Amino acid sequence: MYVADARRYESMPYRRCGRSGMLLPTISLGLWHNFGGADVFENGRAMLRRAFDLGVTHFDLANNYGPPYGSAEENFGRILKMDFGCYRDELVISTKAGWDMWPGPYGDFGSRKYLLASLDQSLKRMGLDYVDIFYSHRPDPQTPIEETMSALADAVRWGKALYVGISAYNPAQTMEAVKSLRSLGRPCLIHQPKYSMFVREPERGLLQTLEHEGLGCIAFSPLAQGLLSDRYLKGIPRDSRAARDFFLKKNDIDEHRLTQIRALNALAKERGQTLAQMAIAWVVRDQRVTSALIGTSRVEQLEQNIASMSHRKFSEEELRQIDEVLAGEGRVSAAEKTA
Ligand code: NDP
Repeated sequence: MYVADARRYESMPYRRCGRSGMLLPTISLGLWHNFGGADVFENGRAMLRRAFDLGVTHFDLANNYGPPYGSAEENFGRILKMDFGCYRDELVISTKAGWDMWPGPYGDFGSRKYLLASLDQSLKRMGLDYVDIFYSHRPDPQTPIEETMSALADAVRWGKALYVGISAYNPAQTMEAVKSLRSLGRPCLIHQPKYSMFVREPERGLLQTLEHEGLGCIAFSPLAQGLLSDRYLKGIPRDSRAARDFFLKKNDIDEHRLTQIRALNALAKERGQTLAQMAIAWVVRDQRVTSALIGTSRVEQLEQNIASMSHRKFSEEELRQIDEVLAGEGRVSAAEKTA
């Protein structure tokens, strides 16, 4: 029987999610990859247990995580039942709907019919009465924002979710969603954008909007799906995400990217960290980012990534050097040194 580590709350820092009452761990774990029916169940179970032992209280899912679709929620439900039954109130569990889930016109995007049916299915798969956060996974240009937001608000009203969130909404769409939810008396808790050293779009207005409106921000793919680590320094390992050539493409790892990765790796070494650790610390250097939402394929990665929390500060000079590398100019000599 799993008994959680009694010291699990001693080292993970928790941050307030915008202007809400919710605190999230500065690192959260997502189940997009490595927890599906095609993956090794016990490996996923070991990562969830270890994460919780290290203070990760937030697990992020979506209806279509797998493969096959739905299987990450099913596996998570089994693990919850086996290991986390008595810890439900210590967990923040989120799910989403908005991408393709089932055939036909009612299994995709942002209609009320899709969102609420999907949430019921998610709850059933996970064996839960409610999720902590229910997200609109992406904006739907064809559906009135009021319809999508009122479906989220009703999920809360009916006790199927405690909070609501949005993902992949740009600043203007975010403002519309926030206003609509406010008018329904259900504030938007959180936004989930893609954010990493390689994807800095949220710095162009979104983070400012979130701060102004009092929303939290949970940054997904902070390692750019593994690019921001030492994983690809010596080629493409057979068991890596890039080897599957689907969500992360082999072509994404070109010479320009590798030069940047080598240079960043050298900077991380100078800080006494791995590149994955520096990439996570970099994402949460901004206090507007509540949590870095990572993925891992094994317990060792998880442990390494969570250890980044012991060295989160950057000097101005370090940040300048990182910007220089990302602008494509800097640190070639350092890259060459480590190549
Ligand atoms: P990351 O950017 O953290 O990438 C995770 C991958 O990086 C791992 O699977 C692993 O790849 C590699 N990795 C992790 N740690 C290390 C390490 N220490 N050393 C070397 N390699 C490492 O995040 P994800 O792209 O997995 O996304 C995280 C979560 O964000 C998802 O699970 C999901 O919850 C959420 N998400 C949300 C989206 C949205 O639209 N809202 C979209 C995408 C993700 P490998 O498997 O090769 O070992």
